[in-house]
Amino acid sequence: MTLIQIEHVSKNYEMGGETIQALDDISLEIDHGEFVAIMGPSGSGKSTLMNIIGCLDIADHGDYVLDGMAINQMKDAQLAEIRNRKIGFVFQSFNLLPRLNAYENVELPLIYRGMSKKEREPLVMKALEAVDLVERRRHLPSELSGGQQQRVAIARTLAGDPAIILADEPTGALDSKTGVEILEIFKSLNEQGRTVVLITHDLAIAQQAKRVVYFRDGRLSKVG
Ligand code: ADP
Ligand code: ADP
Repeated sequence: MTLIQIEHVSKNYEMGGETIQALDDISLEIDHGEFVAIMGPSGSGKSTLMNIIGCLDIADHGDYVLDGMAINQMKDAQLAEIRNRKIGFVFQSFNLLPRLNAYENVELPLIYRGMSKKEREPLVMKALEAVDLVERRRHLPSELSGGQQQRVAIARTLAGDPAIILADEPTGALDSKTGVEILEIFKSLNEQGRTVVLITHDLAIAQQAKRVVYFRDGRLSKVG
């Protein structure tokens, strides 16, 4: 079943009177339950595509349908709503709040959703279990290793039960051994049925995904 359908999408940036074509007629379909890596060198358009998939930005041309919804037609408020409900972002920098412990960082998006403490607790604990961090839930980010901080960030994403996990260079700030551990978490989440889209410039990382999409100069050069 198709989750993401991108058809003939283009995106330009204007910079100092010059037009930069960041995405040039991209078409891509991703099914529910897939684990896809979007791979390409720096400047090839990966982040631009991620922003469009994540409903942070809208294409100039072409169509994007996410879970049956025509995203191109939506206003900013609707996009924000879809983002909150459907998309789980994981970034290179973990973006945790330094004064909140691991539990509270995971809990925060659920507070924003208006859930009661009673509703939140089982979701937070389940998410912490999925990344094996229950024992460390009272630790502040500064008391955790980089890999553990990224696991908190993944748990925060999971707690919201997203339709899709969008991870942009999630291992970029980690040593390679820790990076492998983080990838193992994405793999196991995918095995449990989560759709994962991983953006990376690192071939060794990309090859861990079930499907790799190669990007070059704003175009897909090969869909493997
Ligand atoms: P990647 O994520 O693969 O490094 P990007 O999507 O960030 O690629 O960038 C694709 C192209 O668009 C690059 O040439 C980049 O310089 C340009 N670009 C990206 N964002 C902007 C922006 N906000 N303004 C102008 N140019 C941009
Ligand atoms: P008990 O004292 O009953 O053994 P704990 O003190 O170990 O229980 O934790 C009880 C529960 O409190 C945890 O399972 C966790 O879900 C929840 N909890 C609620 N708020 C926080 C928080 N801010 N930091 C850590 N755990 C929290």
